[in-house]
Amino acid sequence: MSSYRGVPIRGFPSRQVVRQRMRPRRSGAGCVRIGIALAMAIIALVSYFGSKAYNPVTGEDQYVAITQEQEIAIGLQSAPEMAQQYGGLDPDSQLQDLVDRVGQSLVSNSLVAETDYPFEFHLLADQNTVNAFALPGGQVFITRALLDRLETEGQLAGVLAHEIVHVVARHGAERIAEMQLMQGLTGAVVMATYDPEDPSSQRTAQVAALIGQLVNMKFGRDDELQSDSLGVKIMGEASYDPRALIRVMEILDAASQGARPPEFFSTHPNPENRLARIRAAIEEVYPNGVPSGLEP
Ligand SMILES: [Zn+2]
Repeated sequence: MSSYRGVPIRGFPSRQVVRQRMRPRRSGAGCVRIGIALAMAIIALVSYFGSKAYNPVTGEDQYVAITQEQEIAIGLQSAPEMAQQYGGLDPDSQLQDLVDRVGQSLVSNSLVAETDYPFEFHLLADQNTVNAFALPGGQVFITRALLDRLETEGQLAGVLAHEIVHVVARHGAERIAEMQLMQGLTGAVVMATYDPEDPSSQRTAQVAALIGQLVNMKFGRDDELQSDSLGVKIMGEASYDPRALIRVMEILDAASQGARPPEFFSTHPNPENRLARIRAAIEEVYPNGVPSGLEP
């Protein structure tokens, strides 16, 4: 009785016979597979590098796979679901008004006014999760847990300015393009190396998937640093003292000592590194020192 992967199969031809029969077909299939893999890799690379666009807010070229209209649509579509994950909108209308007022003031009194994103600022009811985030297209969120920890309007402006930059710098659209590229390349590696007869080829596929994730994480950290430094600029333009953002970092750091570290920190470079970058950004915007009279 012959066996297939340890399972005895009656009447199955011997392993040697199977090998001989499959060998020519296998190498042919391998060639086709590598051809398809190459085509997949080329398509992924061409569509990624073909998506280059200049961003007037950051002054940098970037790769974005979707239009601004699509970003706005994605944001509006996902906003209710995101809100639900954090206990829905906070019922306190006075605090909601405060978040609105500070957010809109940042938007209309800074370089952000020149963009076309319809910003909306939402206070979420969640009193346990310290977090703030932005969806592509202008939907910005802050949890009640984070708002309650803030001490001044300037600190709220710091959190919102950081999130506003994620939107206008189109970080979400960039990450979607990167994910598409990595999916295309990962798919190509898997296609080229996968051998159904050899289980160890699966490990190569896993490594490829892992590399994809690592690259995305690194881009995420750069996004955070850019949001901090451009956030400083936006705060100053809207008459908020950018040094309030330093205090926000300390508040987040203190919150992260607890049992539940803030999600705000999950993709972040270490706080010291971030603080140094914020201080450098403040010195760059105000080489002669921060003027007095800004909202702390
Ligand atoms: Zn961020």
